[in-house]
Amino acid sequence: MHPNDPKLRSFIEVDSSSDFPIQNLPYGVFFTPEQPDLRVGVAIGDFVLDLTALEAAGLIRFDNANAVFAQSSLNAFMALGPKVWSKTRVRISELLRHDHPELRDNMELRRRALVPRKSIDLHMPIAVQGFTDFYSSKEHATNVGIMFRGKDNALMPNWLSIPIGYNGRASTVVVSGTPIRRPRGQLKPPTADVPMFGPCKRLDFELEMGVVIGQASAMGEMLTEQQAEEMIFGFTLLNDWSARDIQAWEYVPLGPFQAKAFGTSISPWIVPREALEPFRVKGPAQDPAPLPYLQQKHAQNYDLQLAVDLKTETMKQAAGICRTNFKYMYWSSVQQLVHHASSGCAMNVGDLLGSGTISGPEKSERGSMLELSWGGAEPLDLGNGVQRSFLEDGDSLTMRGWCQGNGYRVGFGEVEGTIQPAA
Ligand code: CA
Repeated sequence: MHPNDPKLRSFIEVDSSSDFPIQNLPYGVFFTPEQPDLRVGVAIGDFVLDLTALEAAGLIRFDNANAVFAQSSLNAFMALGPKVWSKTRVRISELLRHDHPELRDNMELRRRALVPRKSIDLHMPIAVQGFTDFYSSKEHATNVGIMFRGKDNALMPNWLSIPIGYNGRASTVVVSGTPIRRPRGQLKPPTADVPMFGPCKRLDFELEMGVVIGQASAMGEMLTEQQAEEMIFGFTLLNDWSARDIQAWEYVPLGPFQAKAFGTSISPWIVPREALEPFRVKGPAQDPAPLPYLQQKHAQNYDLQLAVDLKTETMKQAAGICRTNFKYMYWSSVQQLVHHASSGCAMNVGDLLGSGTISGPEKSERGSMLELSWGGAEPLDLGNGVQRSFLEDGDSLTMRGWCQGNGYRVGFGEVEGTIQPAA
């Protein structure tokens, strides 16, 4: 049976509302207080399957590599390439099936290999080599353009031709749960004559998906659609924290710099690209037609639901502030990667691409505070008299994402970050 078959069942009970059924099998890096060595595991229901235990027991083998999972990141595994990713996923799926005895009936190995998820700590899943952030939602780019430049110049003339992006910082990509310190920077409100240096007053999140690149490309070489797709190892939730007031002053003419460099959070589980196959959909029609090197033969978007919750220090329960879908993206991840390499730019194992903020056509589908509060003009009502235009100290922001199957869902877990006061 194919690992994506909706009929597959594991010997481990998995609730239909769980993010981690046997059809998902996302990879993460974890440790426990009793066994502090970092290692690679796969989430299944309320457990993590310790792949180092399976490798040590000889249940998973690689032709020319050892200790692939006894690592502090997924990079060594990713470097083995898409055929190995596929084969390994098939094997893990088989070992977890309800009708397959190898692991199911080996109680001693099960005790070592299946660790309750509530007893683990999750680490950064990848060693990020480079981080590039795109700007590929037409709805988001239009909303931001209207606020920054007015309605007539909302979408820049290049936007419909190029997947716009910039090279961000890999050094400050952190895993879910890492606190985010309010940045300081140069601010120049429209009413001020000169800039000042101080804490950001318009701190924001950006709801994005992260694309994890699992294969390198050579400097000087372009990629085809097929090559680009095979280089994508998987997807993660990504919060591209943004300082809007710093951004507004610094972004001309080279784009964002410090406004985006102080922190980017990702979820700890990397969902394999293959697990998303059943949820592929066509993206929006592209008009004008992209140049030939950017044209896609295949549907490259995903029907992937997204939700954002905000909880202030005084709130008992988080409030939902956004519900949207990854399928709205104008430029696909494959197009972004093809474009990224098109000049001859080399890609590395462990590169991370941010999709760009994901906003939909409805007001409730906007993927940033900037858009949700329309630049602060329409503060969000979080209930009990709590309002927010931008993020305040102590606020906790959580993003979730999932693809809904028939009776199961392929989920991403969550990415959370809480704002700490400026230094
Ligand atoms: Ca962004």
